[in-house]
Amino acid sequence: MKNKDNKLLSWREAFKINNRALGLMYKKAPKMVISRIIFVIWKALTPYLGIYFSALVISELAGARNVERLKGLVVLTLVSQACISLIDALLRKWKNTESAGVYQMIEGIFRDKLLDMDFPIIDDTKTHELLSTIRQNSNGGGWGLHQVVGNYERLLSAIFTITGGVALTISLFTTKVPEYAGELVILNNPIFIIGLIIIMLAIIYIAPVLANKAGSYSALNSGTHNLANRLFGFFGWLGYRKDCAADVRIYRQDRICDKYNSDKTGTFSSKGFFAKLARGPVGFYFAASSAISVVFTGVVYVFVCLKAWTGAFDIGMVTQYVAAITRVSGNVSSLIGGAGHMRNNASFLKLVFDFLDIPNTMYQGSLTVEKRRDRDYEIEFKNVSFKYPGSDDYALKNVSMKFKIGERLAVVGQNGSGKTTFIKLLCRLYDPTEGEILLNGINIKKYNYYDYMSVFSVVFQDFNLFAFKLGENVSTKVNYDRELVEDCLNKAGFGERLSEMPEGTETYLYKKFCKDGVEISGGEEQKIALARTLYKDAPFIVLDEPMAALDPVAEAEVYSKFDEIAGDKTAIYISHRLSSCRFCDTIAVFDKGQIVERGIHDELLANEKGKYHELWHAQAQYYA
Ligand code: ADP
Repeated sequence: MKNKDNKLLSWREAFKINNRALGLMYKKAPKMVISRIIFVIWKALTPYLGIYFSALVISELAGARNVERLKGLVVLTLVSQACISLIDALLRKWKNTESAGVYQMIEGIFRDKLLDMDFPIIDDTKTHELLSTIRQNSNGGGWGLHQVVGNYERLLSAIFTITGGVALTISLFTTKVPEYAGELVILNNPIFIIGLIIIMLAIIYIAPVLANKAGSYSALNSGTHNLANRLFGFFGWLGYRKDCAADVRIYRQDRICDKYNSDKTGTFSSKGFFAKLARGPVGFYFAASSAISVVFTGVVYVFVCLKAWTGAFDIGMVTQYVAAITRVSGNVSSLIGGAGHMRNNASFLKLVFDFLDIPNTMYQGSLTVEKRRDRDYEIEFKNVSFKYPGSDDYALKNVSMKFKIGERLAVVGQNGSGKTTFIKLLCRLYDPTEGEILLNGINIKKYNYYDYMSVFSVVFQDFNLFAFKLGENVSTKVNYDRELVEDCLNKAGFGERLSEMPEGTETYLYKKFCKDGVEISGGEEQKIALARTLYKDAPFIVLDEPMAALDPVAEAEVYSKFDEIAGDKTAIYISHRLSSCRFCDTIAVFDKGQIVERGIHDELLANEKGKYHELWHAQAQYYA
């Protein structure tokens, strides 16, 4: 199995996209970004104060040995260190507090985008593939938005450490070796000094470049990494999954897992892809990088010690120069390494922005829907045809229909005949390809979407309930009207079960968040979903295959009360079971995306050539 691997962006593009990501993080959590940056600058500069004072103390010890001055220096060193530690602790606390919700904040960026997206984009598998790749990059290699601020911290830390270090090191190059030092006066020669600085810079540069080269293997092979992670996520944890437990036992699927889990040539295994990389180029580049860093330290020691030996400066300055230069060299490496890492991350950030930049194309109107107590809302489909994006076939073809107020309308037809598509257009999840849908004579596109949706209560086939309290599920509110919730649950046929629940509407569904939560059957879930539509009390109630999980007795019970349940609302009832629809005022029969018949049960059944007659007799055996 192969997976698409990654490509590096140019430095310019990488820089731009990292800045954009930092801007996004700053917009969402300015205090988090500021506190982290201030902390990192503080941490970069303060060690030099310690180095500076230590050098003064050592110089005094090795030189004049003035006790009063020594005392003063020691006190100053201690006081400054105490102050630094105190401010350090305060800044760290501030930074940690501000950084606490970063994970949720980043998740929130994706969640808000998803909630804001036009439904057809969410329904598009390409959107989910992109989001899934972003998630895998983040979970697998830690790539993407999560590391943006950290990368800037590393960069700034390096820049400020280098600046502080250079400030303490300038005198190393400018202090002259005395004339009596013989041949060593060459250390004063500007050409020698420039040559030395160039050699030092070259070494400092090469070490992180080699380390970056090693690191880039991980970014370039993120696809392979992600695929292996996904496979492990499946095979490695199959034994833990409750929903698969029966299948795994009966078909001994654990043997397939074992084959995968004990495969020594698997991507992360000892003879696998990443192990080979680690033994090969990655290992080589890391080792070479470390070796070159050691050469640098050697050069620095030789130069500093030689100058001190000639008497250019005292022993205290040796500690200052060596400490400062070592920090500078380490941080030049960190700077180049950090920049390389940011470049590696940029290609993952590009995917994040590819997702966040997906434009919405559906027209969003601003008209409000008139609130009417008499529920006098008229909806009309006018010659509506529809093709799903990317499909050449019509899912609906030339559908015209007016809903009579207060009517119970059944929409029937075989699977794939267009019933759910019809409801999706009604709820404006998609716009018609041709024709229009009108609410009180105005195209529904012209209404504010949420205002328009307030007219509908819908139970979709694949509805969801959450592991919250029963009352919260029915009302979709935290503070709900308990009596109304109970009334809706009773109407939906859930009354008996409710009376068995000790906590009533305060009972948690499922055990995910509460050990006393109740597990409920598919049929009970449907009744709760039905109660939810009643609680919303919208003028239109739409039920898409609402009884599929109910047993025949429960189904009959809900039907018998359906008139009462729907009250004065207009009810649209979708089903492929014709027996479910007899109680409706009108039955619309869908076939291949078209309405082929319309009427009441007896009329439709009497038409022996009609689709309804055909479907009825095909299903008759189930309800005989
Ligand atoms: P029903 O609800 O009657 O079972 P649907 O409205 O779900 O039928 O489907 C009508 C047609 O549209 C079918 O041919 C189905 O394959 C197609 N279809 C449904 N959903 C999609 C989709 N998201 N993308 C492409 N085609 C779809």
